[in-house]
Amino acid sequence: MKPAPFSYVRPMTVEEALFALAQQGDEAKVLAGGQSLIAMMNLRLLKPRCLVDINRVAALDYIRQDNGTLAIGALTRQSAAETSPLVLQHCPLMTEAIQYIAHRPIRNRGTVGGNLAHADPTSELPAVAVATDATFVVRSANGQRTILAADFFVGHLTTALRPDELLTEVRVPPWRPAGQGWSFMEVSPRKGDYALVGVAATLQVKDGACQAARLVYNGVAGRAQRVPEAERALVGRNADEAAFREAASIASQRVDPHSDFHATAAYRRDLVNTLTRRALAQALARCGKRSA
Ligand SMILES: Cc1cc2nc3c(=O)[nH]c(=O)nc-3n(C[C@H](O)[C@H](O)[C@H](O)COP(=O)(O)OP(=O)(O)OC[C@H]3O[C@@H](n4cnc5c(N)ncnc54)[C@H](O)[C@@H]3O)c2cc1C
Repeated sequence: MKPAPFSYVRPMTVEEALFALAQQGDEAKVLAGGQSLIAMMNLRLLKPRCLVDINRVAALDYIRQDNGTLAIGALTRQSAAETSPLVLQHCPLMTEAIQYIAHRPIRNRGTVGGNLAHADPTSELPAVAVATDATFVVRSANGQRTILAADFFVGHLTTALRPDELLTEVRVPPWRPAGQGWSFMEVSPRKGDYALVGVAATLQVKDGACQAARLVYNGVAGRAQRVPEAERALVGRNADEAAFREAASIASQRVDPHSDFHATAAYRRDLVNTLTRRALAQALARCGKRSA
């Protein structure tokens, strides 16, 4: 398969990229790792008139700490984030989740920003971003805005990004290691395949009692789905097997997954139940530890 004809620009700076996007409007697509975009173009599911290739924009490729906040440039390769000591220290949930993305050669090309902007509902990183209250820095020729992860993902392959906007940075708030545990778990048909169901779980525990929890799922809806009812069932309770079972049961009832070639909705619901229990147990075991 070959893509429809397109023009190509290769900016060297963010400003040049924004200029190109402003000129081309919704005729343009940003090219990052190309691991999703090029396949969709080859299948002619997308026919952009112009590709704005940001691979030479070195200013978008970084991982740093900024007053306790983890700041990741959009062009950071997934494999760089996977092996980053800073990411492990400040967001071990992300380190764990990235290992479920495809295979190493794909993670070597695929970018953190491209993965999030693509907004595949089975993707792992959107669930991590929602679970950690990450914010996305977005720029256009007209200025900059910041979007909370929960507002960024609108639906299947759809985000709050406007056609002339570039995602430039992902910001993950400071991690509170004292009493906080995390876990990312997933089931897919084969290792490296897209998830049937995944869960990003965090747990804050003090004196055996659960103070806060986050449960966010990939693969069960058109976007990463948080289940506040299951989180509320944990808060104020002893962090134990009985509480985890109840939260898992609530989560499995609240999600509304689809059936497809790979699995029925009932099976996905069952996975939500099992993965939630296991992830919460692992998060509890990690409470107080800085990283895996
Ligand atoms: C075989 C295979 C298996 C895979 N398995 C998984 C998996 O299990 N889990 C998973 O999450 N992903 C998986 N992927 C997808 C992979 O993670 C991609 O790398 C990712 O979805 C897109 O990142 P990219 O950098 O390649 O973006 P591209 O493909 O270049 O772009 C994707 C989309 O995002 C837009 N975009 C990219 N960067 C920006 C930006 N900075 N600002 C605004 N818009 C931008 C593009 O215009 C395009 O619409 C798989 C891919 C393959 C080929």
